[in-house]
Amino acid sequence: MPDKFQAVVIGGGPGGYVCAIRLAQLGLKTACIESRGSLGGTCLNVGCIPSKSLLNLSEEFHKVKNLSNKGIEVGEVKLNLDKMMKSKEKAVTVLTKGVEFLLKKNKVTYYKGVGSFKSKNEISIIDADNNETLIFSEKVIIATGSVPVALPGIGFDEKIIVSSTGVLKLDKVPKKLMVVGGGYIGLEMGSVWSRLGSEVHVVEFLDHITPGMDKEISDEFMKILKKQGIKFHMQHKVEKITKKNSSAIVLTLDKDGNRKNFDCDVVLVSVGRKPNTEGLNLEKIGLNLDDKNRVQTDKNFKTNLENIYAIGDVITGPMLAHKAEDEGIAVAENIAGQSGHVNYDTIPGVIYTRPEVASIGKTEEQLKESNIKYKVGKFSFMANSRAKAIDDTEGFVKILADEKTDKVLGAHLIGPHAGELIAEIGVAMEFGASSEDIARTCHAHPTFSEAVKEAALSVDKRAIHS
Ligand code: FAD
Ligand code: NAD
Repeated sequence: MPDKFQAVVIGGGPGGYVCAIRLAQLGLKTACIESRGSLGGTCLNVGCIPSKSLLNLSEEFHKVKNLSNKGIEVGEVKLNLDKMMKSKEKAVTVLTKGVEFLLKKNKVTYYKGVGSFKSKNEISIIDADNNETLIFSEKVIIATGSVPVALPGIGFDEKIIVSSTGVLKLDKVPKKLMVVGGGYIGLEMGSVWSRLGSEVHVVEFLDHITPGMDKEISDEFMKILKKQGIKFHMQHKVEKITKKNSSAIVLTLDKDGNRKNFDCDVVLVSVGRKPNTEGLNLEKIGLNLDDKNRVQTDKNFKTNLENIYAIGDVITGPMLAHKAEDEGIAVAENIAGQSGHVNYDTIPGVIYTRPEVASIGKTEEQLKESNIKYKVGKFSFMANSRAKAIDDTEGFVKILADEKTDKVLGAHLIGPHAGELIAEIGVAMEFGASSEDIARTCHAHPTFSEAVKEAALSVDKRAIHS
């Protein structure tokens, strides 16, 4: 007899494991199936965590090398890439093991193997030794995430032509790294290898980086990255990548029809990710996908089949770990008869470069397009005393508020600790705050957060320090 559950989650990423824990907290007999042999999904294994670890380590390396500019003399600074990679791997292992502990603590049954549907209530799990286990569940949550998109006809060998997975474990610093795609992954990982000594070139299809971001922030971001030495080739399309011994030639075509060859050691292809639905047998059970091959769901994360739900990267919306987690909690609460809900207007996005870039709510371009009248408040870190004190003054805070009601509609930051500062605005937006509410809140001095307060004051043209 197969084991029976009230709920089974396929996929142990931030969407899946959080959902499984919440289901168990709500009293449902729950299982979670994960195929990669370690929990935490893309995020903990080959995404957020290893990339943030390398971003931090490479930044420390870069900082120490430049300390003498600040009057701190150090000896020769050398890179030990092998040790740096081990430090990154330790962070991953500690966190993935931590998730395994959390599943155990919450009495979630963890199956290691590839899950697929036999019917809408029966799941087959094939383990690493090819043994099959069948389980039965009243409800099933698909949380199988996403995988990197390759360029047509150009596969990943993860040594010379690499995806985000390969670029996180290169065994030497490439002399020249070509990055295809100026989005989140390309700019974060381009920054890492640039700090470690690579000459980094970004080839981007559009005329701006980070599509969808507030244009003023995106322009400032590119200007700063250029100053850091990253080279940009905008409105260029990659036509071909040819491998030559242990290097590659990237052939691009620009908007005026000019072709150009770039020699390099490594090519990172970071042109987006696609939903991971392969091998689940979804056709067999008649589950609908949308036009982008994502699992189609309603606002309660329910698919066209009554007992099957989906969350995270495999459905519509931004491919972000915290979005997947919040959906995991909401769907668990819905299944348990509560009213789970995700507010898609207040999901922050953060790029963990130096400086950090953070964004929440509407951009200026979106407000214009929707004919919403708005006011803008801006404040530069150049005039922030904490930033001045530590000589970290690049960037600014921009707050967008409704022209009539003053309600905060969006905020866009580039600057020191922007990824932390955005949380304050998220809370304010959840409470329906006005820019005046932020402006009248006492902020400690000297902190970077005073730049948020001053930007809020500036919405009403009464910033004090500029
Ligand atoms: P995933 O994390 O992809 O998890 C799905 C899991 O399901 C995987 O472990 C997979 O092995 C498993 N699975 C798939 N099919 C099956 C099957 N048939 N049976 C069993 N298991 C299966 N987001 C952020 O918010 N912040 C960041 O800083 C950030 N950095 C990133 C850096 C990189 C390099 C990358 C690639 C991504 C980054 N992301 C970041 C995005 C983030 O990783 C994803 O949005 C998030 O992991 C999605 O969570 P998920 O649970 O939907 O899917
Ligand atoms: P992305 O969507 O962020 O950026 C892809 C970029 O590639 C875009 O600028 C696009 O215009 C460009 N592009 C597309 N096709 C191209 C082509 N043929 N030639 C040249 N350029 C091309 O995708 P990504 O960087 O691969 O990251 C995938 C997703 O992972 C992100 O959208 C994000 O949701 C998530 N992620 C988040 C973080 C974070 O939160 N800090 C970090 C990494 C990844």
